[in-house]
Amino acid sequence: MQRVGKFAFVIALLAGAPVSGQTSAEIDAYFPDLQALYQDIHRNPELAFQEVQTAAKLAARLKTLGYDVTTAVGRTGIVGILKNGAGPTVMLRTELDALPVAEKTGAPFASTVVTKNLAGATVPVMHACGHDLHMTAVIGTARWMVEHRQQWHGTLMLVGQPAEESTSGAEAMLKDGLFTRFPRPDYVIGLHDDDSMPAGTIGYHAGPFRAISISPTLTMYGRGGHGAMPFNTIDPVVMAARTVMALQTIVSRENDPMDPVVLTIGSIHGGTQANVIPDEVSLGLNIRTYSDETQKRILAAVTRIARAEAAAARAPREPTMTMPESGHVVVNDPALTKRVAAALQKAMGQQQVIEMPAKMTSEDFAEYGRAGVPALLLHIGAVSPAKLAESKRTGIPVPAPHSPEWLPDLEPTLKAAIRGETIALLDLFNNAG
Ligand SMILES: [Zn+2]
Ligand SMILES: [Zn+2]
Repeated sequence: MQRVGKFAFVIALLAGAPVSGQTSAEIDAYFPDLQALYQDIHRNPELAFQEVQTAAKLAARLKTLGYDVTTAVGRTGIVGILKNGAGPTVMLRTELDALPVAEKTGAPFASTVVTKNLAGATVPVMHACGHDLHMTAVIGTARWMVEHRQQWHGTLMLVGQPAEESTSGAEAMLKDGLFTRFPRPDYVIGLHDDDSMPAGTIGYHAGPFRAISISPTLTMYGRGGHGAMPFNTIDPVVMAARTVMALQTIVSRENDPMDPVVLTIGSIHGGTQANVIPDEVSLGLNIRTYSDETQKRILAAVTRIARAEAAAARAPREPTMTMPESGHVVVNDPALTKRVAAALQKAMGQQQVIEMPAKMTSEDFAEYGRAGVPALLLHIGAVSPAKLAESKRTGIPVPAPHSPEWLPDLEPTLKAAIRGETIALLDLFNNAG
């Protein structure tokens, strides 16, 4: 064994590879245990702020590994700290929550969980965003960092964040003292799975990377009555239908195409049966932008068009719109991105670590950067190259996160995620930024 080790050491030197740092063989050895953990978490998903069992599983694992673990941070979040001498504090974040989606992956470990959400509605639950994979990767990374503590110095802060999908968990943890009760990190990193790259390929993007999202509910009012006598009613269904079409012109006719905007109407609710005209219809909007100013302009346009459509239909009152809290742009610190991308490319190769475009999806990872800490959210491809090639050929998109069919290609994705995380951590701990 000793000889093999020395031989590998010499080869690494000759190849110019970093001497310290993990080998793939070590992570291969972790895989069977981690696969079991992944399947357990996948089979038992929990919704935002209900991740009690999930958090307990991770906390137990981290405690066994020797981390100082605090639970119930920001309701259901956990923090695991490993102090390893003088040096920077680096935070690695995973999400804990799943989505109200009925799983259709056909996997033998598929979720059949049905539960009540915080609003009391009965919903199916599935890890449709890969947070189960992220958690498993963090546990693998946690183990590697303990077993190789002679290779780095500093404080490793592992964070299991609740409620990413409702974009409220990061804020809840920060409000609960994430950066005051615990060491304030010098850097925050995270890794999210992705449908656009082959399994195990890591994508980075400096600067604004994920969009601002806001989901207001627009309610339009009419005057209900018998379906046989529409002339005695003011039909809010027709009003809503016209409004849905009219709102499409905001992006196509009012917005500079160089300033990205998405306006989706993901739900319409009105009426109870076919022969009754209802009093009101509500529309669930989702608006994504890259700036607060653009968001303000789009919301004003929605209000203007909805009012005009209501007036055109003789509505008895103006529409109303709830204004929930808005998310924020994820901004990847440019210097941090450059540095980590270079370390990853050096260790994993230019082919496996690539620059990727920004996305219109959103993430409350934004809050860590907004709290003043240089932050970097990396993505990792999670689709088998064969499936990506097939999709390119047929033009049919592969399932993506939030799809009931989203199932990462586990082995290559998980192994590369752990490699990527440990390489990034070693660089941040050992090389002065
Ligand atoms: Zn998601
Ligand atoms: Zn996610």
